[in-house]
Amino acid sequence: MELSKRISALKPSPTVALNGKAKELARAGHKVFNFAVGEPDFTTHPEIIDVAVQALKEGKTKYGPAGGSPQLKDAIIEKLKRDNKLSFKPEQIVVGMGAKEILFHLFLATLNEGDEVLIPAPYWVSYTAQVLAAGATPVIIPMPEDHQAPRLTPEMIAAHVSPKTKALILTSPNNPAGYVIKKDELLAIGEYLKDKPWWLVSDEIYEYMSFAEPHHSIGALVPELHDRYIIVNGLSKGFAMTGWRVGYMAGPEPVAKLVKTLQTQSSTCLPPFIELASVEALKRGANLMADKMDLLKGRKNLAQELINSMEDVSMVPPEGAFYIFIDVRDALDKAPGYENHNSFKFSEYLLDTHHVAMVPGEAFGVPGFLRLSYATSDEELKEGLSRLAQALKDVK
Ligand code: PLP
Repeated sequence: MELSKRISALKPSPTVALNGKAKELARAGHKVFNFAVGEPDFTTHPEIIDVAVQALKEGKTKYGPAGGSPQLKDAIIEKLKRDNKLSFKPEQIVVGMGAKEILFHLFLATLNEGDEVLIPAPYWVSYTAQVLAAGATPVIIPMPEDHQAPRLTPEMIAAHVSPKTKALILTSPNNPAGYVIKKDELLAIGEYLKDKPWWLVSDEIYEYMSFAEPHHSIGALVPELHDRYIIVNGLSKGFAMTGWRVGYMAGPEPVAKLVKTLQTQSSTCLPPFIELASVEALKRGANLMADKMDLLKGRKNLAQELINSMEDVSMVPPEGAFYIFIDVRDALDKAPGYENHNSFKFSEYLLDTHHVAMVPGEAFGVPGFLRLSYATSDEELKEGLSRLAQALKDVK
């Protein structure tokens, strides 16, 4: 029997696959340095856990309203006002099972067959798969050769526009490259987008991890974009709540309505005890995790120092999220068998022989790089990165 051609063409998430392999090695008794994970290593704040436990004890175990409870939507509206200087009505908000589900439904709700979606590389792995699943075509804006230069300009966007362009995705702070789109860059992009009839999907899930400068939302900087700006966020990263699966979008009402319709036909709602804990987290805001963010910043500095001391290795300046995008192109140029900056092959070698897991740049559309997640201990960073240095020497 025939399967769906569209879905058969998709590849499973490479980060999930790599994590699986790293866990297998660990189960077999090896000490594995896993820098492939996209989640903080600390657990959710105990006070948020308490709210969920209490809600469970009070019997908050039934279905909730599709699209999010009024209380949670209000908390999101307050948060967007407080942190992002954006105002929305409850009808413009949809809460779902993580930003991942929200994005999936958002692409299904806004794209038609043949539409093109502009995605700057390097990009988060699921954008391209989800856009393809929605029947549309991802159009990648390549990363500038000199990755120290400003990364996304109106000219770079304009070079990839066609009559079929329907949306642009921005991710700042960025996964996997850890850069932050600066205020003046956002203003220039926003100005350019003013007369473009496209959806602007702004994924701001790493907002609380903006170390280079305070986080800015393009929708607040350029309010004229309000009829096409869709902000996507969630509690996974900033509140260390990956397993709770809470994400949300805020944007034009017709979009929110369709995303909610999709939810009524799929996951239905979030568990109410999780919604109540999320309300508490959103109310507490960035302050709740401030000490953890300082910790991450310290680890970023340590990892940066260790990488700087390696030969033939550089990096995209890390400014946010908890990733460093390590440039190993020069090192691979000297490694026989790793032609065309084959970081995919190198990441397999690194895991198999040195037990260090890092996601290769190919997964994000840019060969020759490795994504390090530094949401781990200083000791792991020191030992793991010294193994990386050794592995790069071994392949030369
Ligand atoms: N957007 C980006 C850029 C991410 O890195 C992730 C997770 O890795 C997500 C969205 C999805 O997050 P979640 O589904 O946990 O809310």
